[in-house]
Amino acid sequence: MAATLTVIPGIAEPRPLKPAAAPGTGLDRKSDLRALQAADLRLAGIFYRIAKANAALCQTLVPATGLILHSRSAYLGQYEEAAAELFGFEAAIGVEGVLPGSPAAAFDIPDTSSLTHIAAANVRSATTVQQALRTIEQAGSGGSVDVSLADRGRQRTLRIPTERICAGRVEAQVSATDNAGTDGQTIQVTTELMNRLPEDDQLAAVVAHEFAHIVLDHPDRLTRAGVARGLFREFGRNRRLWRQTEIEADRLSAYLMANAGYDPRAAQRFWLGAGRRVGGGLLASGTHMNARQRAAMLAREAAAIAQIEARPIMPELLTTRDMPLD
Ligand SMILES: [Zn+2]
Repeated sequence: MAATLTVIPGIAEPRPLKPAAAPGTGLDRKSDLRALQAADLRLAGIFYRIAKANAALCQTLVPATGLILHSRSAYLGQYEEAAAELFGFEAAIGVEGVLPGSPAAAFDIPDTSSLTHIAAANVRSATTVQQALRTIEQAGSGGSVDVSLADRGRQRTLRIPTERICAGRVEAQVSATDNAGTDGQTIQVTTELMNRLPEDDQLAAVVAHEFAHIVLDHPDRLTRAGVARGLFREFGRNRRLWRQTEIEADRLSAYLMANAGYDPRAAQRFWLGAGRRVGGGLLASGTHMNARQRAAMLAREAAAIAQIEARPIMPELLTTRDMPLD
């Protein structure tokens, strides 16, 4: 967890995403951007489903619309022009897509739409997606939010209902390495790892593991426990506490998946397959169990879950999150 991933906007093919060997033509850049858009929406859809179905398990809920936003500033350099042609970007933040089944899906909102106002606030020059989302969350706490959109010269305002889901967000990181991580608020998954997980249930296992760290407040609790994040995490007490949070995240992930209607056994398949390579040397260190141990533990949780009919399941593990790690 808490892996630092770098955004490298250099991808050459629609599927699978690959680092560009040479600068592409204008057409290639557009297919790169379409591929990245598909990855963003796939990841966001999985996260939204997990964050909605597990609302009862979260300490912090936020009003959500199902609008997936992106910022013009995310596409710099050789992608700037193609991004403007594809997505319009008449303002700093655009609507990258709308999640099926979400409140915003009731409206026809093309991906050429840009966000000009949220309620009374002018957000034409909002600096980040996170800032725009915070404004939506503040304005949408009453059950709906007025969103003004510019689309190819047309301006309109929609009143979009909101629904309460767990706080958190996801980002697909363009990278040729396999990794996933969270800082406690944002979950990052690399495009390389996504490409190797065509099965949504396995990608959901990755998202659920990282999200479990957020639900269990691990990043803050590790910080409060004075656990080093760097090299020294592999020694002594650091190592023991890191390992404990990894085991807890694995165990809770099975419940988060089941509550959202994903097959919790997919986590086991992940660790016996693509997951064996994730994080490079990270898995070899003492902080994570080996893939076989993880798979066996997840299989036990999945078997326990299969005995329970009611949803959402509130596992006992949740009661540990208010305790200091020691
Ligand atoms: Zn982890």
